[in-house]
Amino acid sequence: MAEEEESLDGLELNEESWWAHDAEVASSGFFTMLRRLPLLVRDLLKLSWQTSKVDTAIMVGATLVSEVFTALGLLATTDVLSQLFAALPTPDRVLAALPAIGLLVGAMVLRAAFAEASQWARARLQPLMGRTVDARLVRLTSRIDLVAFDDPDFHDHLQRVSHGANRGANQLLWAVLETLTGLIGLLAVSGALAVLHPSLVPLILLATVPAAWASVRSARVGYQMSAGLAAAYRRQSTLKGLMSERASAAEVRSYTMRSYLLAEYDRIFRWVVGYELRAARRQQLAGIWGQLLSAVLTGVVYVALGLLMLAGAVPLAAAATAVFAIQRAGGATRAALDGVNSAYEAGLYYEDFLAFCAEAEARVPADGTVKPPVDLDLVEVKDVTFTYPAAEEAALRGVSVHIRPGEIVALVGENGSGKSTLAKIIGALYAPESGTITWGGVDHRQIDADALREHIAVIAQDFTHWPFTAGQNIALGRHDSGKDLDDVLAASGADAVVARLPYGLDTMLDPSYRGGTELSGGQWQRIAVARGLYRDAPLLICDEPTASLDARSEYAIFESIRRHAVQRTVLMITHRLASVRWADRIYVLEEGCVVEQGTHAELMGLEGVYAEMYTLQARAYAQEG
Ligand code: ADP
Ligand code: MG
Repeated sequence: MAEEEESLDGLELNEESWWAHDAEVASSGFFTMLRRLPLLVRDLLKLSWQTSKVDTAIMVGATLVSEVFTALGLLATTDVLSQLFAALPTPDRVLAALPAIGLLVGAMVLRAAFAEASQWARARLQPLMGRTVDARLVRLTSRIDLVAFDDPDFHDHLQRVSHGANRGANQLLWAVLETLTGLIGLLAVSGALAVLHPSLVPLILLATVPAAWASVRSARVGYQMSAGLAAAYRRQSTLKGLMSERASAAEVRSYTMRSYLLAEYDRIFRWVVGYELRAARRQQLAGIWGQLLSAVLTGVVYVALGLLMLAGAVPLAAAATAVFAIQRAGGATRAALDGVNSAYEAGLYYEDFLAFCAEAEARVPADGTVKPPVDLDLVEVKDVTFTYPAAEEAALRGVSVHIRPGEIVALVGENGSGKSTLAKIIGALYAPESGTITWGGVDHRQIDADALREHIAVIAQDFTHWPFTAGQNIALGRHDSGKDLDDVLAASGADAVVARLPYGLDTMLDPSYRGGTELSGGQWQRIAVARGLYRDAPLLICDEPTASLDARSEYAIFESIRRHAVQRTVLMITHRLASVRWADRIYVLEEGCVVEQGTHAELMGLEGVYAEMYTLQARAYAQEG
């Protein structure tokens, strides 16, 4: 054993950086968790009640009734035995015992029937509960402030919860029921025995003590194990994902990462197995001690029973029933304790889920109620500062820009100067840290954000490759918008892309689905441009929509955006300055600040940053040409 411990020493993982995140989840001790369990159970039953009132009522009610029949069955047993044992059994005695036997059979049948009803209700509830929990999660995650996704702690929490919540809720439900069944069973047995003779009750309870002890001990070890292994399990699943998912499949090969990943997986695997085995050994030891003690105590109980009979305190039939009852009580205790143990583990998951929901709810932005005007009015950004949660420096510092209806406004600047961030703030995706944005004079905080977003079409730099068909990728759920898809396809140049797809607009754009296909970066960009044009919004924000297109295609797309812009306002971001010459106004950003603004001619006249960039690019193009 010592040898094994030593070989595990070389695999000390706790110090590694990825370990830290999960540690806090498991920081609550066993008894702390037990104390919090009633609150969790209350919340869970509320959830279950909301999910299905009928099934919840049947589940709990039938469990209660079923255990009442356990008690009645035990009392009937005594009756049967006392009829049979009153003297030497004769045919008359057996006949006299028949009604009691009938009662016993009836109690057993009803007990089983109610237990089954409870099981059935639970089986119906389980999938519904899973849906309720998942729905609660995604309703929140699809509404929370976008900035939350840039907060690493929040992101970790989300990852963890999205795997554990459903399982936690259902396991907790099962565990609560199991505990309830066990406890009521124990109560029923004790009640029945109290009727026979009160002194039998403490005896029975005494016999269940070793099982209880072993069970609690085993649960504590189990808890320590799940706490100790949570991070390692997560790391294992991350590594497994890297070796089996499409996103990383190409790099695993091109960087020949396979043996490195396998070795890393194996290293953690060995450590986990060693840990699990040590825990299993400790649990088994507790079990062995529990059974030994149980055997001894059962002996003690039987001796006590014999003494009670000798003293004439307990009749023979009652003593015989007590023997049944001892076994039933043992089973009930084990069920109750298994339930508590399981509830405790599931409670960790479920509590984590509740904590996440609370945090996410706090992150749902408080939307205003003012509906934005149908036509776009003056958009004014004043002195806006913004810092990403994970960043040390502000991405925008005291930025002021304005966009008048019908204008084409351009943002230019080096990579990382804050263009995309400003576009997202204007697109109502991030709220500024300080400063104001007004839409026709109304502060953005007073405006209903979703209604505002209806007025804005964003072609983002990091747009989503939806795993939907090409048509769905363009219409995004708005097939009824009244806009002609063909116009949009032609304007964006996506018509050529769609023409080459095997099923045209009905082609799935994700090769991991049957019949699906993948597009190149440039082809995807045309789809994204079509998407932005299809959304009939008065303000169009284009964030480097042509970065992976060749110069000719870019020119064509800019031309068509300009044509489309006749009735629209356009905020345009690009690093190809030749494309922004025709903008009504150009803002030059540098390190989060607006350093120059004006028309192309004005900026060239300034002979500043813009003029320098423009001349450099023009020279490069001239050389290329
Ligand atoms: P641009 O679009 O001009 O290239 P961005 O607006 O994307 O620049 O980024 C501005 C700055 O903010 C950069 O320094 C970038 O590293 C940082 N940044 C962008 N997105 C995030 C993010 N999600 N979390 C932290 N920092 C970010
Ligand atoms: Mg950008």
